[in-house]
Amino acid sequence: MCRHLGWLGAAVTVSSLVLEPPSGLRVQSYAPRRQKYGLMNADGWGIGFFDHDVVRRWRSAAPLWGEASFESVAPALRSHCVVAAVRSATVGMPIEASATAPFTDGRWLLSHNGVVDRTVLPLTSSAESVCDSAILAAAIFERGLDALGDTIAEIGTADPLARLNILAANGSRLIATAWGDTLCILRRDDGVVLASEPYDDDPDWEDVPDRHLVEVSAKGVTMTPLDHPPKGSR
Ligand code: GLN
Repeated sequence: MCRHLGWLGAAVTVSSLVLEPPSGLRVQSYAPRRQKYGLMNADGWGIGFFDHDVVRRWRSAAPLWGEASFESVAPALRSHCVVAAVRSATVGMPIEASATAPFTDGRWLLSHNGVVDRTVLPLTSSAESVCDSAILAAAIFERGLDALGDTIAEIGTADPLARLNILAANGSRLIATAWGDTLCILRRDDGVVLASEPYDDDPDWEDVPDRHLVEVSAKGVTMTPLDHPPKGSR
């Protein structure tokens, strides 16, 4: 499934997070190293970042590896808080920029790596697309990010085959869940990276255990187990 990355820390360039690392999202768009579902992530990409308090996004339904214009501009985009993703569309989902993470409610940026049965999600009129991830994002925004752990555990119970890795940020908090797919953390001197997989071979990358919630803020990093034991479904 898709791959995503979040950053909270000092202001850095988008290109240093996404394009320059040897196994960054650009390389993960065609050669991910730890992807369990899907071979590559050619169905679009999205970058969201906080420009002071303002959310800014750049999304596309094209593969990231061919985006020469983005490559030219990304070194000039600087932010302390970034959510980025490359997409491998689930069968049956539309391939369009509006189905591509990160989604936003104007305050949070949110990416979903995984799949969920749309019939277990609450009806909403605010989703950006009919894509499962867009509807899931709308449901999470409606309930509030403080309830993210409960929301994921409940949806995971309603759809035991769901994979629900969420990554969300609001400029001062970076929150992620590991629920069915890989999630890694890198604590750097200038900030923290949460990513589906390491963007380089730094030995400081740590795996987040499955069914855990990670929260990064100025107070530090917390990791909490999510309720509901594994059902042995995957
Ligand atoms: N289900 C979502 C989509 O179709 C996310 C897919 C993924 O994680 N690969 O875009």
